[in-house]
Amino acid sequence: MRLPRITSTSQLRLQGASAYVGDLLTPTLRLGVTGLSRAGKTVFITALVKCLCDGGAVPRFSCLTDDTLRAYLEPQPDDDVPRFQYEEHLAALLAKEPAWPQGTRRISQLRLTLEWPSRGGLFELLGLSQRLHIDIVDYPGEWLIDLAMLDQSFQEWSRHALATARRPVFAEMAKPFLDFAASVNADAAADEQVAIRGAELFTRYLQEARRCDASHAGLGPGRFLLPGDLEGSPQLTFFPLDAEPNRPGSLLSLLAGRFASYRKNIVKPFFEAHFSRLDRQIVLVDVLSALNGGGEGMRSLEDGLEGVMRAIRPRSDSWLAYILGRRIDRIVFAATKADHVHRSAHQQLEDILAKSVARAAKRAEAAGSEFRCIALAALRATTDVHKDVQGERLLGVRGTPEAGERIGGRYFDGTQRVVVFPGDLPGDPLDAFDDHRARPEDFGFVRFRPPRLVQQEDDGQAPGWPHIGLDKAFAFLFEDYLP
Ligand code: GDP
Repeated sequence: MRLPRITSTSQLRLQGASAYVGDLLTPTLRLGVTGLSRAGKTVFITALVKCLCDGGAVPRFSCLTDDTLRAYLEPQPDDDVPRFQYEEHLAALLAKEPAWPQGTRRISQLRLTLEWPSRGGLFELLGLSQRLHIDIVDYPGEWLIDLAMLDQSFQEWSRHALATARRPVFAEMAKPFLDFAASVNADAAADEQVAIRGAELFTRYLQEARRCDASHAGLGPGRFLLPGDLEGSPQLTFFPLDAEPNRPGSLLSLLAGRFASYRKNIVKPFFEAHFSRLDRQIVLVDVLSALNGGGEGMRSLEDGLEGVMRAIRPRSDSWLAYILGRRIDRIVFAATKADHVHRSAHQQLEDILAKSVARAAKRAEAAGSEFRCIALAALRATTDVHKDVQGERLLGVRGTPEAGERIGGRYFDGTQRVVVFPGDLPGDPLDAFDDHRARPEDFGFVRFRPPRLVQQEDDGQAPGWPHIGLDKAFAFLFEDYLP
């Protein structure tokens, strides 16, 4: 029997078919990147993509032992999700006068593909390289906290939200809203203007509470803090009111109805369409800001982590467990901005985070997760220094504090490069939760300007990308798929 001759057209078809099979067999992992506002999500994603695509990480990624591995960006698969503005964020960091990029305000996505020559198996037979798609999904941690609302009635949510607003730490910020809420009659006829005014005052209190100390983590609803595309939407016009259910057409029933539609139209779809499709997760946590807030700051951090745990490890009898087709099987919790302290304190930082995560997991009855806690600085803005003073070794960092930062009575204007001794982190992680053992005045963390990463003119060499722990986070999340 004569075999048909392979023409160039059929050869092309064959190659096309192999590529098609290769595409079908290419695994895709969806990595969720979350954390509260200003935790460091945008800088983390930008740094990770830059180091993988262009190299230059210092220290280098030791898990990438195959020198032939390359990484590149590809068009993202989901047309209805905005693209993560990688190029824009990178340009801000690489500018002559570098600036931190604009942080996460809404959900966005980026597809990163890793590719390496196949060694054996079907791929080699087909003449194809081995590939792995990593779809990075960036979303505000505030949206995760909303999960608790799904189990609450309007009355239960109101009671909890009002009790939080009455905590002494929020007294001043919440006063205009609480005065307003006390003045309205829940049984009066529904009035749109009252709903709008109440929601405005409630939102202002939430935003001020978050602005004054980023560690007040459990506050919500999440879209009131970060509305994403819902800015100005009528779906965000409700506020907590402590009254028993009453007649239809009243103010209370208007607010309860809005609350119900927020849960149905905003909270549920996010979990169904985005969260339920994640395979791996990194949760970025600003532990140092929480420590700056003393015991109260650490307890707030734990509240926030408990909300995150309830989402990532839902109880088996919950609605979320029901819709999650598969489980997130690896989680990294990262204490960000680790470059604010000397490297000798990184272990303590990791221990404090691990203790907070363990306490939160216990409260959320979440078990069985494979997770790791690491100290992370996606872009290191400082260098370590030490100074011996009268036989005692002081450990600190050198960098350029942002304009407006201050330590004690000293203000910085954003141009001075200085040495900062931020204070010793508690040796026993439990002490971090103790108001007497870890007091805000014991620490002096300041925000630093990003380092200059512009090309050196003399040798034309791009400088490295200094980081802490970026390689460890990447390795834990993906090493089971790497060559
Ligand atoms: P997001 O809101 O979670 O997206 O947070 P960003 O990634 O925008 O980071 C918020 C701020 O944290 C930045 O503007 C920086 O001031 C600071 N930051 C983030 N990552 C680092 C880091 O690796 N080192 C230092 N020193 N600061 C960082």
